[in-house]
Amino acid sequence: MQITKVNCPENKIGIKCPYIQTPEMIVVHNTAGSSSAMAEVSYMLGNNNYVSFHYAVDNERAVQGIDENRCAWHAGNYPINLKSIGVEICYSMTGGEIFEQSERNAAILIASILKRYGWGIDRVRYHKEFANTSCPHRTLEKGWNRFLNMIREQLGQASINIPQEQKSATSTNKQVRVTASQGLNARSGAGINYAKVGAYAYNTVLTITEVCGDWGKTTNNNWICLTYTSETNNNTSSGNYKLGRYRVNTSAGLNVRTGAGTNYARKKTYSNGTIFDTYQIIGNWARTPSGWVCLDYAKLLYAY
Ligand SMILES: [Zn+2]
Repeated sequence: MQITKVNCPENKIGIKCPYIQTPEMIVVHNTAGSSSAMAEVSYMLGNNNYVSFHYAVDNERAVQGIDENRCAWHAGNYPINLKSIGVEICYSMTGGEIFEQSERNAAILIASILKRYGWGIDRVRYHKEFANTSCPHRTLEKGWNRFLNMIREQLGQASINIPQEQKSATSTNKQVRVTASQGLNARSGAGINYAKVGAYAYNTVLTITEVCGDWGKTTNNNWICLTYTSETNNNTSSGNYKLGRYRVNTSAGLNVRTGAGTNYARKKTYSNGTIFDTYQIIGNWARTPSGWVCLDYAKLLYAY
């Protein structure tokens, strides 16, 4: 996998990485965004916030913005910031195949760092261990030991058994419409590691009978990634979400978009703690006074 190095500008070193460090561990993050690794690093090095990290990894490559022998401000914990390498996994707000491929590339990068320092897998830690945060939210939701197994695989080590972490499928009966303009792959199981068995065109309406994580099983017993679909019922409530007043519940803030999906342009961001009203719900998206938001990252204060 390609690693692209971007140099921290001289005049930003005092903000982004003022101290020399001897790293002792890797701290894994999710960006809680939907931008590429280069966009994340460019944004990080371009602003004057005391927020920084060493690597961002997306579905195509890793981009390094800070040298490993300098500290960075990513762990929300001062002593840890002075002895760790921060790795951000991109597209955690997008989810689906692009996030899974970003995680796979992060596992490749992390395995190469472990080898270089002669470290064991115990040196791989995650943000939430050191600060009051849900980061790395999607990696934890999908299973931390599952992610460690991806790194073990890169190291040529045996996986450890994690039956208790495996998500069981829950049955459902709902209709979804394919929103990916290029169509959506159908696979033999719930994940991109399963064989492609077909594809559904844009706008195809499918009935989903089981859900497992981000994946749904069709009546043909194929699995599709539900990130690239929207539920077809256009009602005032859908799934678990009801119309009501909500509060943003993610430290990274919540993107407000022009439509109900991550494929729509971002208009603004509600910062963490922002309270907003909802007018319409489609799937896990809600229309708010400023645009559409994903309710997975908000807390219902009360239903109307
Ligand atoms: Zn983090």
